[in-house]
Amino acid sequence: MQHAIRAGFVGLGAMGWSMAAHLHQRGLLAAVANRSPDKAQRFAAAHEGTIAATADTIAQCCNVVVLCVSADSDVIDVSRTVAAAAAPGTIVVDHSTVSSTTASAAAALLRAAGGDFVDAPVSGGVEGAKNGKLSIMAGGEAATLARVRPVLDAYAARVTHMGPVGAGQNTKAVNQVLIAGIAQAVTEGLALGEALGLAPDALLPTLAAGAAGNWFLDKRGATMLANQFSVGFKLGLLHKDLRIVRDLALAAGTDRSVIEKSLADYAELMARGHADDDISALIRLKRPQV
Ligand code: NAP
Repeated sequence: MQHAIRAGFVGLGAMGWSMAAHLHQRGLLAAVANRSPDKAQRFAAAHEGTIAATADTIAQCCNVVVLCVSADSDVIDVSRTVAAAAAPGTIVVDHSTVSSTTASAAAALLRAAGGDFVDAPVSGGVEGAKNGKLSIMAGGEAATLARVRPVLDAYAARVTHMGPVGAGQNTKAVNQVLIAGIAQAVTEGLALGEALGLAPDALLPTLAAGAAGNWFLDKRGATMLANQFSVGFKLGLLHKDLRIVRDLALAAGTDRSVIEKSLADYAELMARGHADDDISALIRLKRPQV
């Protein structure tokens, strides 16, 4: 007989906080953890019935451990800690954007401990996490994915099983090429519109109503023209993603124009101290440089 899901969530950042809140609403969440522990304490205080824990103690009280942490080394560290402390049968679901190699290494750690792993990167931004409308691209065993499906359904508009472990992250890599290219086009276009003196109130809905309309323009067009870059997807994280994507494209022998241009641009913004700004801060480089 399968046990009821007792989920733990590790990584309460821009995405993870809202995703964990959806799990709490569905009655699936038992515990939360975060690198800086004050976030976990604040979350537990605001969500009755959940406790603030560490990756170690979460593994002891939960049979599904969900991650939405920053980078590859974080996924490996937390997976190793969970694998060492968890009961057999524990499943780790990782929503971070990392390489498919990292996903395979984390899966090996969990499987050696009698558990399993699903790589399940997400798309839809902080708005998708808040509204519970993320698109999830999953890699792993079909039976394991079916077992954790109630967890994913708490914050997904769509869940797609892309193949074995790593297939979710490879799908996300493709997604990030599109994200980077759309950001290049929209920021370059809006910087030109601004320089030509076109009124944002008229320009943005006009573009959105035609063939140029897209998610990034809708959600970030007005804020970038108002120089507000604090909400959304940190450009340092997209830079991290694009380094993974570059390796994949190099191995595949496909064109890397968007990838290389975006890596150079975000590196420049990071050097200027903007790593924590939203990716729409790319418009800074598109404006006339003085
Ligand atoms: P974020 O706001 O920087 O949040 C990351 C959270 O994870 C922080 O609270 C951080 O703790 C915690 N953390 C990092 N390493 C940890 C560890 N080893 N153990 C425990 N907690 C750890 O980032 P985010 O925007 O939520 O993104 C999270 C992941 O999702 C990234 O891989 C990102 O690429 C991906 N993603 C982001 C978006 C987006 O639009 N933001 C969309 C899709 C996917 P601290 O408080 O100590 O920093």
